[in-house]
Order: sequence, then structure tokens, then C-alpha cells
Amino acid sequence: MVKDLVCGMMVDQKNPPAQTLYKGQMYYFCSMDCKVKFSEDPEKYLKAREKEEKDKKAED
Ligand SMILES: [Zn+2]
Repeated sequence: MVKDLVCGMMVDQKNPPAQTLYKGQMYYFCSMDCKVKFSEDPEKYLKAREKEEKDKKAED
């Protein structure tokens, strides 16, 4: 399972409702809506994920 970066839902990458290729990396989404939102501003969602991962490390 992989995380839908837009809404945070877990998505089965073997049978994703929607997916998109960005900078050579495949991203998976729970719906076309989330894919469209990601496509409109991919960097926003990628930065949000980076921040989330940093925050997690800070907690350790
Ligand atoms: Zn979603």
C-alpha cells in the first residue's frame, strides 16, 4: 500500500484508482479527483510529505 499524498488515504498500488508519473516517480491516488489536485500543484503535496517525514524524525 502507498499513501495518497493529497488526502492521506492508503492506496493499493497494484490496482490504483488513479496514478500519475511525476519526475520519473509514480504516484498513486484514491480517485481521479486527487490525481487532478496533485497535477495542479505537485510540489505543494511533495513538500507537505517532506515536512511530515521531518516532523516524524523530530519526534524520535
Ligand atoms: Zn485521495
